[in-house]
Amino acid sequence: MNSPIITVIGSINTDMVTVTESLPNQGETVIGDQFKMKPGGKGANQAVAAARLGANVQMIGKVGQDQNGADMLKALKKENVSIRMVETAPKINTGIANIILSNNDNRIIIVPGANDKVTPEYVSQFKEDIRNSDLVLIQFEIPVDTIIYCLDLCNEYNIPIIVNPAPAKKIASDYWSKATYITPNESEYTQLFDFKDRSSGFNDKLIVTKGAHGVSYSMNDEYMTLPAYSVNAVDTTGAGDTFNGALAVALSEKKPISTSIKFANAASALSIQKFGAQDGMPTRTEVESFLR
Ligand code: ATP
Repeated sequence: MNSPIITVIGSINTDMVTVTESLPNQGETVIGDQFKMKPGGKGANQAVAAARLGANVQMIGKVGQDQNGADMLKALKKENVSIRMVETAPKINTGIANIILSNNDNRIIIVPGANDKVTPEYVSQFKEDIRNSDLVLIQFEIPVDTIIYCLDLCNEYNIPIIVNPAPAKKIASDYWSKATYITPNESEYTQLFDFKDRSSGFNDKLIVTKGAHGVSYSMNDEYMTLPAYSVNAVDTTGAGDTFNGALAVALSEKKPISTSIKFANAASALSIQKFGAQDGMPTRTEVESFLR
């Protein structure tokens, strides 16, 4: 069987991670413990998760004309993600996530840079690539206009589209109905949806991830919760990205929804047993032997 083609339209960031025992107060300087730079961005993370699980993944996005941009492209290539549709935009920085980890707290500042240039006009150059995809995966770290454009395009071409509304941003409710699946975590779900509102047309496509409490979903009027696997969580950063990448792979292979969620649940349970968002993402063989 040929691997399905998954197109990820989304962000590419460099994660700048500072680990510190104490957080500075206003006007204060503290000495931190560790600093690491890692490939990140929800788009890139989900693309890597899907590629490790054996899909044919192509990314549509932008980096800036700087060292981080060159490094992020290299990292994607190494993971077998096609970067043919990733442009290096002039005179702008590559997206940055400043992440401060302190004990169990994390604080993040994102400077989108080139991700803000992933406009509908830019994406429209790749209409044929989108039309030839088995599935499209999108997140909310690119402009809202682009998300809406992609929803319209996938509907026109009848291509399944998973929308991971992270970070949460409101879009007109008509647009939610154009998504094939919507995958908020619990806090995004609370901000964006009301499960009691059965008339809103998105209840049959919601897949809500709930960390250690697993996944709740409602399909064909049935509401179910699949428990999380009980594992020793070392670092849950990127659990949601692994979940979305894995879900995209299983659904693009036309697996039933419950089997697909189980597969994604297992992939994310494996990913949190190692440090780092992308570093912990499992291979296909690892997920299959975990499920055996
Ligand atoms: P992040 O922002 O850290 O990437 P998220 O908030 O988007 O994560 P979560 O709902 O926390 O996403 O986690 C996604 C999935 O990962 C869960 O539905 C579950 O399958 C798995 N998972 C997360 N935390 C745990 C845990 N402690 N034990 C087992 N599985 C977990």
